[in-house]
Amino acid sequence: MRLSRAFLPTLKETPAEAQIASHRLMLRAGMIRQTSAGIYAWLPLGLRVLQKVAEIVRQEQDAAGAQEILMPTIQTADLWRQSGRYDAYGPEMLRLRDRHEREMLFGPTNEEMVTDIFKSYAKSYRDLPRNLYHIQWKFRDEMRPRFGVMRGREFLMKDAYSFDLDYEGAQRSYRQMFVAYLRTFARMGLKAIPMQADTGPIGGNLSHEFIVLAETGESQVYLHRDLLDFDVLASAPDRQGDLAPIVDFWTSRYAATDEKHDAAAWARVPAERQVSARGIEVGHIFYFGTKYSAAMGLQVSGADGKMVVPEMGSYGIGVSRLVGALIEANHDEAGIKWPDSVAPFRLAVLNLKRGDAGCDALSERIYAAFDPDAVLDDREDRAGAKFADADLMGFPWQAIIGPRSAAAGRIELKRRATGERAELSVEDAIARIRG
Ligand code: ATP
Ligand code: MG
Repeated sequence: MRLSRAFLPTLKETPAEAQIASHRLMLRAGMIRQTSAGIYAWLPLGLRVLQKVAEIVRQEQDAAGAQEILMPTIQTADLWRQSGRYDAYGPEMLRLRDRHEREMLFGPTNEEMVTDIFKSYAKSYRDLPRNLYHIQWKFRDEMRPRFGVMRGREFLMKDAYSFDLDYEGAQRSYRQMFVAYLRTFARMGLKAIPMQADTGPIGGNLSHEFIVLAETGESQVYLHRDLLDFDVLASAPDRQGDLAPIVDFWTSRYAATDEKHDAAAWARVPAERQVSARGIEVGHIFYFGTKYSAAMGLQVSGADGKMVVPEMGSYGIGVSRLVGALIEANHDEAGIKWPDSVAPFRLAVLNLKRGDAGCDALSERIYAAFDPDAVLDDREDRAGAKFADADLMGFPWQAIIGPRSAAAGRIELKRRATGERAELSVEDAIARIRG
């Protein structure tokens, strides 16, 4: 994308309403625009990151055997009356009426709907196990929307729902999602630690929140230091293998959010291994047995001909919240430092002297090698403004092309994450970036 024609509106001033780094930087880098409280439009730069995050989530869900569907945002109140949650959910639910005065709502989650859909098709034990997920906008009328996309009212969530014949199967599905979550966040360069958590309005008795440690996190958390060692994950078997050992590694050591914190168990963790910190919840998984299947009348015939009520779990990831969490984990004074896997563009080419034949030629060459995964700063602007914008938007690589080095056929290559710089030929720079 050529910046001279792009809609990448960066801001020089720091927006006063933003209290944390990710919110400030998302506004300044022109990633999002608030349209009303807790509701955001995603601009080109932000949307590209959102899509990259969603794609990693999708690939890991697929690899774990879940299948993607897409359910609507608007649901009928009747569906929620069947589970009893229409009244229980409270003011966080956005309630609507259609032209026929039918009561509708903007979905805050989809347990009822997915159970109802699955019920129409699943007839026997052969139709289980299954895991269905979608990546869809949710609405929760949060009392205090804040921190930008971290706690929005409208937000993008991946939610998966598993259906199993029995308790053992449901635990297997839970472990599959547990490990898929560790992998998903690790691919984004995030250590998200699974922690015992309250089940809240979803209900059930087994649940883990996946928490990224960050000073600006909303949750207070306590964990054993060993859990920050993610090398263990590399040795995890694929989904055919036995995932119990890897899940045991994370569940046998102390890790809990504030609500589940147990002072006696915590005291047994050696003091030098105790980490107490703030954290951001990026995912939450639940096993809740037959709570929704029973309420919604889902049952299938078992191998012995007797009817069975399937065991369920649900598994959420805050896709839009992750964009904020990624910035909390990867930024400095100058701006964002995107990890390669989620960067909106891999490379920014900074042509410091538009109209200079050498600068133009080298810029076009390296830009062409990475287009459409690169931006070319071909604006008529000061070099300082180009440096500042590239650092702010956080592209992992910058190719800086000024007249003096261009005359010698060389460019300066900068790695945003480390600040390392090297003067290279265009070919060597291309190889380094591809590397
Ligand atoms: P929280 O405790 O942060 O309010 P929750 O427990 O209500 O979240 P879940 O129902 O578990 O949320 O939703 C799954 C995931 O969706 C959460 O782990 C979080 O990452 C994300 N999420 C929940 N609420 C919001 C929100 N208001 N804005 C952005 N992301 C959200
Ligand atoms: Mg939660």
